[in-house]
Amino acid sequence: MLDWLAETNAKMREGLLVAYKPWNKEPDIIHRLVVVLAELSGRDTEILAKIRKELEVKCKHPKKFRDIDPKSRSYCVCCNQYL
Ligand SMILES: [Zn+2]
Repeated sequence: MLDWLAETNAKMREGLLVAYKPWNKEPDIIHRLVVVLAELSGRDTEILAKIRKELEVKCKHPKKFRDIDPKSRSYCVCCNQYL
């Protein structure tokens, strides 16, 4: 899901900044708006990267401490992180 969002965001940003697109031909208000949108899109990509980092599994406990919860999700009995 995060990969898809980041990829879609990056494609949209690239599309906005393509030089031959009509909205980039003249330095008018529309072009300035496109630049702002591209900056916002770039910021979203950074936010997605930060979310991904927070979601990374940080558990370093041995596999023998893993168990399965009632919803069949694997988790660590030491730190309760889902794996
Ligand atoms: Zn753990």
